[in-house]
Amino acid sequence: MSQTLLFADADDDLEIKIKAIREEIRSEYFSDLPHPWIVGFSGGKDSTLVAHLVFEMLLNISPSQRRRTVHIVANDTLVESPLVIGHIKTVQAQMREAAEAFNLPVKVVTTQPTLDGTFWVNLIGRGYPSPNRSFRWCTDRMKIQPTSRYIREQVDTTGQVILLLGVRRDESARRAVSVAKYDNGQRLNRHNDMVGCMVFRPIVDLTTENVWEFLGTYPPPWGASHTELISLYRNSLGGECPVVTGKSDAPSCGTSSSRFGCWTCTVVEKDRSLEGFVEAGFAEFGPLLEFRDWLSQIRNDPNLRSARRRNGKFTVSEAGTFVPGPFTPDTRAEILRRLLAIQQHMGRELISSEEIARIREVWRDDAMNNSGRVAAERAEDPHVEG
Ligand code: SF4
Repeated sequence: MSQTLLFADADDDLEIKIKAIREEIRSEYFSDLPHPWIVGFSGGKDSTLVAHLVFEMLLNISPSQRRRTVHIVANDTLVESPLVIGHIKTVQAQMREAAEAFNLPVKVVTTQPTLDGTFWVNLIGRGYPSPNRSFRWCTDRMKIQPTSRYIREQVDTTGQVILLLGVRRDESARRAVSVAKYDNGQRLNRHNDMVGCMVFRPIVDLTTENVWEFLGTYPPPWGASHTELISLYRNSLGGECPVVTGKSDAPSCGTSSSRFGCWTCTVVEKDRSLEGFVEAGFAEFGPLLEFRDWLSQIRNDPNLRSARRRNGKFTVSEAGTFVPGPFTPDTRAEILRRLLAIQQHMGRELISSEEIARIREVWRDDAMNNSGRVAAERAEDPHVEG
């Protein structure tokens, strides 16, 4: 993304494309379908552009024409990169204020994983090894389920919803495959995993350059500017963890092109986003980077993993090799100890008191199950007395 490109005047090509997209959005909003719209908002450039165009359309029509509610939904995994979640919250506050001031039918919402679905309850409580490509237990619990739950609640109330996503064909080869899955030649496509949810991708044919050119040229209709977003990308070396609403979108979460993901993400080899922020002068995030690297390093140390799974069973792979179980109780306690030390050092919440309480409950349950299992094995073992 070059400086020249960012601040260039919008060229004719972009003007023509944006005019067509504005017409599409307006015509879809005016269609006979009464169903509410849900805009998936990740805080990244593409979903910001979609939210911008939808907000602008609502402002440009008369109050009596604003017949559908628009939900702008962001998901907070609770381990988002600190600067990114800060940016999302700022923009959400601006959107809420503008929606209220102009009396727009806009609901700005944040979804979150359930207590049992958070990163820490699973990693530290249940001892799940840090996620990697073959055991990526996090995306479903922390991203897909919270957003899907919200969408399903709306479907239960209204029968159907239209989900607006900022997916684009030229984002990446992998993403292009998931975009193609929805491509039935119609404006609305059925969501692959959610009944009652139709997907509308208004900016699917824009290029990355188009998106930056637009955002660098036009300030958001909710006020302020897109400058902070542009700096975020510049500092994080680009990329984003997109809105994920189904398994077909999930491959792009936690890949090298997903640099706006969770700060704890061990699916990527290096957290380029946090590294970028630290290099750009946000040295206070250095401890997070070190902690993430340590989590990644300890993952495959057999001495830190239990032999059995939490259900007491041993696991052997198809190739006949032994598969270690969760982190040992001592390792889980050590992870919590280090996390709390960083939290205190940084003076910002990294794990909530509810999560800590739930972790302790899970530890107690595991300890009871283990002592029960040991007693049962002793009772069945003919060589052991008593
Ligand atoms: S960014 Fe990484 S840790 Fe977060 S949900 Fe995606 S794969 Fe999991």
